[in-house]
Amino acid sequence: MTPIKPATRYPDLDDPQARPRYTGIPTFFRTPHTEVPGEVDIGLIGVPFDGGVTNRAGARHGPRAVREQSALLRRFNGATGIAPFAAARVRDLGDCWIEFPFALEGALDEIAAFYRGVLGAGVVPVSVGGDHSVSLPILRALGAARGDGARLGMVHIDAHGDTGDDYMGSRFHHGAPFRRAVEEGLLDPARVVQIGLRGTTNDPALWAFSTESGMRVIGMDAFQDQGWQAAAAAAREVIGTGPAYLTFDIDSLDPAEAPGTGTPEAGGITMREALRLLRALRGLDFVGADLVEVSPPFDVGGITAFNGASVLFELLCLVAEAWEARRAGIG
Ligand code: MN
Ligand code: MN
Repeated sequence: MTPIKPATRYPDLDDPQARPRYTGIPTFFRTPHTEVPGEVDIGLIGVPFDGGVTNRAGARHGPRAVREQSALLRRFNGATGIAPFAAARVRDLGDCWIEFPFALEGALDEIAAFYRGVLGAGVVPVSVGGDHSVSLPILRALGAARGDGARLGMVHIDAHGDTGDDYMGSRFHHGAPFRRAVEEGLLDPARVVQIGLRGTTNDPALWAFSTESGMRVIGMDAFQDQGWQAAAAAAREVIGTGPAYLTFDIDSLDPAEAPGTGTPEAGGITMREALRLLRALRGLDFVGADLVEVSPPFDVGGITAFNGASVLFELLCLVAEAWEARRAGIG
């Protein structure tokens, strides 16, 4: 069928991603939207759920804001040359919306069920939260999909360890997903690296589980002193050649560059450092990734959502390269 407005002089404009970036309905990176996972290689998915936040809510609005700002990005990675949309069929799979959002643990079950469907269709998920509690059900679905009992490694970039425990009567909130994931046998702590931790706590042992379980922790002071190069080298050493997940909490960034988040911590990673760090992770076998904790009600001029979209593009590039490498290995 011919569209109402076909391109006449510039056929490239038949591709919505090549049209003026202020046009069109804002999907992630202006990719085609579908809720049917068939014929999709990499699915961009919103998880608009923030029932796990311990302080300021709002991350449920993250996916829409990141979709809007992601329209500012283009098709090729200028630093690495990666062209994710040419390499794989990348689609916006819409939102993992929650039918019963007031029941926290049930909501996590709903998210896991959604991702089992995504993974069952052979789609690699790249997600946008939502608060960080959503990573746990995604890891549960990844574990179920693998079915071999092999635990995943993980690169975790965050101002917080997220390895806390019970808080105000709940073991499931955005400060504990990765302790739960280790306890549930989803993550191999010896293959987990946490980068950017800092800030105040009420309990000096709040993130003790990280080091006690064997995770490599690179706090913000070490990151600042040794640079993104050392952090990337440590991540590559810890992850090795096995499959891994990549999770980026936007509050890892300095609040000057990411004010729109629920639990900011002063003195964080700059976008320049974050981009270099992520690009230095090329070649790792990422089987999924997420960007979480963008909270538009606290944002200023969309800067957090824009930086979030820019991080998301790097996550997509890493996942697309890993997907290509796995496919080449199979073929
Ligand atoms: Mn977090
Ligand atoms: Mn955090």
